[in-house]
Amino acid sequence: MNYKSALNNKIFEVISQASQELNIDSYVIGGFVRDLILKRDFKKDIDIVAVGSGIELALKVSDLLPKKPKVQVFKNYGTAMLRFEDTEIEFVGARKESYTQDSRNPIVENGSLEDDQNRRDFTINALALSLNTTNFGELLDPFNGLEDIENKTLRTPLDPDITYSDDPLRMLRGIRFANQLGFAIEEKSLESIQKNAERIKIISGERIVDELNKILSTDKPSVGFLLLFKTGLLEIILPELTALNQVEEIEGHTHKNNFYHTLEVVDNICPNTDDVWLRWAALLHDIGKAPTKRFNKKQGWTFHGHEFLGGKMVKKIFERLHMPLNQKMKFVQKMVMMSSRPIVLSQDTVTDSAVRRLVFDAGEDVENLMTLCEADITTKNPSKFKKYHNNFEIVRKKIVEVEERDHVRQFQPPISGEEIMEIFNLKPSREIGILKEAIKEAILEGEIPNDYQAAYDFMLKKAKKLGLKINAC
Ligand code: ATP
Ligand code: MG
Repeated sequence: MNYKSALNNKIFEVISQASQELNIDSYVIGGFVRDLILKRDFKKDIDIVAVGSGIELALKVSDLLPKKPKVQVFKNYGTAMLRFEDTEIEFVGARKESYTQDSRNPIVENGSLEDDQNRRDFTINALALSLNTTNFGELLDPFNGLEDIENKTLRTPLDPDITYSDDPLRMLRGIRFANQLGFAIEEKSLESIQKNAERIKIISGERIVDELNKILSTDKPSVGFLLLFKTGLLEIILPELTALNQVEEIEGHTHKNNFYHTLEVVDNICPNTDDVWLRWAALLHDIGKAPTKRFNKKQGWTFHGHEFLGGKMVKKIFERLHMPLNQKMKFVQKMVMMSSRPIVLSQDTVTDSAVRRLVFDAGEDVENLMTLCEADITTKNPSKFKKYHNNFEIVRKKIVEVEERDHVRQFQPPISGEEIMEIFNLKPSREIGILKEAIKEAILEGEIPNDYQAAYDFMLKKAKKLGLKINAC
């Protein structure tokens, strides 16, 4: 099969010419070729393998391009990268790799194209297209990757035990590809992942999270998470989630399996948000339920305080996996901690003041919180399902109304502490806090509108009860 016509990006012609001038062979390999055959959206990265020095080839290519783009050289890795138009082109010399037990960083020697294809993770990622003048566009497919693409199968070029044990990150990549592409991982490979699962411990948190984010960014992340679960990887990476996989029964009372419920929530939220952090919040929203689960005769199963504990667990997970401990973490934490708030509203009659408090507490994140809570409705009872969704519609409408009237989303006290001190001639004291809190409460309860005059009048009444007098001067 020849893919000459598909290699119509000018860069391939230039690489071909550069290789010829250096008298080395070069190939486009990996994801670009796979996605080309799969007719997936063109990705913005292209990998080139040179049978010789990848760095020299990159420098030569830059030299031949009119704008002579800057070449970034990574000497330690023997790779180089340049940008052409909006594509990143990565050059590497063909290599042969051998691995030691305790690291995913191999000992590297120069090798042939076949050696290089051997070190690839999956047959569909080992496909190469020649950029040599003699056979430009020819597909080099030593492991029948093309057939695997047709059969939607993920298979390793070598014995899977070797491929996965050499670099355990490949287990996560495999599951991620299965999820992204809708492929099945070959049975032998799945068994091998199960066998080698423990080896994921040598992979850094950052790389694990990279793959988890890609899984979470698919249309149906439950596919990936179920594979992680069945292979035993999830138990190692996120034991807080697998702890939710239980259903207990006491005196005829059961509770739902919160692991499968969580996966449903994650899938549910996908059509409504592309924000990976909100998807993380969906994934972690119930993690506090395993450690807070209790049974008592009166109430049956309870999970009191699970949101609060869950929020604390979010931080521990982020720390353990070396995730950013910044606003994103705070956002996920806030979503988890508030995850039951709108639910309560959806089950009851919705009062204005309850909605005002929700908007006040959630602030700018109130829409995201609503999106999370709607995804959380997984009841199989159609009438309950309808009722909850209807109530959420009412809550959403009320959020808009309340916000238009009272602007509590970015609440600023209508009367500042300084002003209170001046009005009543007070030094910093408890009374100021009491007055400020009383004004805020009155606004949230809907006793007074959120405006200066109303707050002022209310404050005077309250101050009188506290025995405070207006500053005479
Ligand atoms: P995507 O860019 O969509 O994540 P990709 O297959 O292009 O998919 P990259 O991480 O860009 O993935 O890697 C490019 C190529 O390098 C892969 O197609 C594969 O051939 C090879 N590769 C990447 N990571 C590994 C690995 N851990 N083990 C073996 N080969 C790998
Ligand atoms: Mg890629």
